[in-house]
Amino acid sequence: MMKMYYDSDADLELLQGKVIAVLGYGSQGHAQAQNLKDSGLEVIVGLREGSQRWQQAETAGLEVMTVAKAAEKADIIQILLPDERQAEVYENEIKSYLTEGKAIVFSHGFNIHFGQIVPPANVDVFMVAPKSPGHLVRRTYQEGAGVPGLIAVHQDASGHAHDLGLAYAKGIGCTRAGVLETTFREETETDLFGEQAVLCGGVTELIKAGFDTLVEAGYEAESAYFECLHEMKLIVDLIYEGGLSWMRYSISDTAQFGDMMVGKRIITQETRREMKKVLTEIQDGTFAKQWLLENRVNRPTFNAIARKEEAHPIEIVGEQVRGMMPWLKKHE
Ligand code: NDP
Ligand code: MG
Ligand code: MG
Repeated sequence: MMKMYYDSDADLELLQGKVIAVLGYGSQGHAQAQNLKDSGLEVIVGLREGSQRWQQAETAGLEVMTVAKAAEKADIIQILLPDERQAEVYENEIKSYLTEGKAIVFSHGFNIHFGQIVPPANVDVFMVAPKSPGHLVRRTYQEGAGVPGLIAVHQDASGHAHDLGLAYAKGIGCTRAGVLETTFREETETDLFGEQAVLCGGVTELIKAGFDTLVEAGYEAESAYFECLHEMKLIVDLIYEGGLSWMRYSISDTAQFGDMMVGKRIITQETRREMKKVLTEIQDGTFAKQWLLENRVNRPTFNAIARKEEAHPIEIVGEQVRGMMPWLKKHE
C-alpha cells in the first residue's frame, strides 16, 4: 500500500512567518489561495496586468501584484498558471527571484518532468496536487472537508521539502481527505494517461459513439442523450461509492448480464493495444512535444477540433434537454 498522510502528519507551523505566492487565480489558483488564507497563512496572488481576475482576488480579500513582484516577495511560490505557459513565465518573471531557501511548488508535474523548467539547485521543488477540479477544492474546504491530494518532492535543498509540502497540503485542506506519496514522473504520466484514455478522451468518444449509433438507427436524439450521456453520471456515482460490484448490485440482472457480455466487445484487445501506444507516447515525450509545439503556433489543431466538437448534435440536443432540468446549473 502507498503511504497516506492526514492532518496529524502535517504541521502548519512550518508555514507561519513565510509568505506564500499563488501565481494564477484560475481553477486551482482561486481555490488554493483562499483555502491557504482561511487556514491563517500569509498569501499573495501573482497575476498579469489587466487580468480580469485581479479584481476578483482582491474582492476575496487577497493582496494581488504582478507575477514578478509576487515571486520576489514570497518564500513559497506555487505555480498555478496553465502548464503550456509556465516555462515562459518562469524564465521571464520567476527565475531571477529564486534565491537560496525559497521553494517552488506545482500541482502538476508536466514542466519539471519534461524538462521545461529547470530550477536552481538551492531551492526546494515539490508538488502538491489536489486530485480534483479547483472548484471542489474550495467548496469541500468550506464545508470542513477536503479533496485527496498527491505529494512529491523533486528537489530537497532545505532538508525540509517534504514537511513543507505536507504543511501546504494541510493549508489547502488535502490532508483532511488523505495525501498520497508519489513522484513527479508517476503523477505526470498517470494524469496525462487518465485524462486522455479514460476520463476525458475515452468517455467523450464512448458517449458520442453510443449517441450516434442510436440516432443513426432512427431513435429520437433526446432518448439517445438520456441513455448515453445523462445516465452516465448516475452509473459513475455508484461506481465511485462502492466500486464496480456495487454498481452491478444496484442495476438489474438483465443489465448486468449485458454489461458483462458486451463490454469486452466495445473495449477490445485492439483498444487495449492502442491504450498502450498512448501511454508510450506520453512516456517518451511525444505527446508533450506535440502539445508544446501546438501552443508555439497558436493552437491551429486545438481550435479546429474544439469548434467541430462543440457543434456535435449531442451538444445541441443536450442544451435543449438540460434547459428543461431547472436543477442543473447553466454553463456557457
Ligand atoms: P487556469 O487556466 O484555470 O488558470 C490559469 C491562471 O493563470 C489564470 O488566473 C490566468 O489569469 C493566469 N495566467 C495565464 N497566463 C498567464 C501569464 N502569462 N502571466 C500571468 N498569469 C497568467 O489553470 P488551472 O487552475 O486549470 O491549472 C493550473 C495548474 O494546476 C496546472 O498546472 C494544472 O495542470 C494544475 N491542475 C489543474 C486542475 C484543475 O482542476 N483545473 C487539477 C489539478 C491540477 P488571466 O488569464 O486572468 O490573466
Ligand atoms: Mg491533468
Ligand atoms: Mg436502462
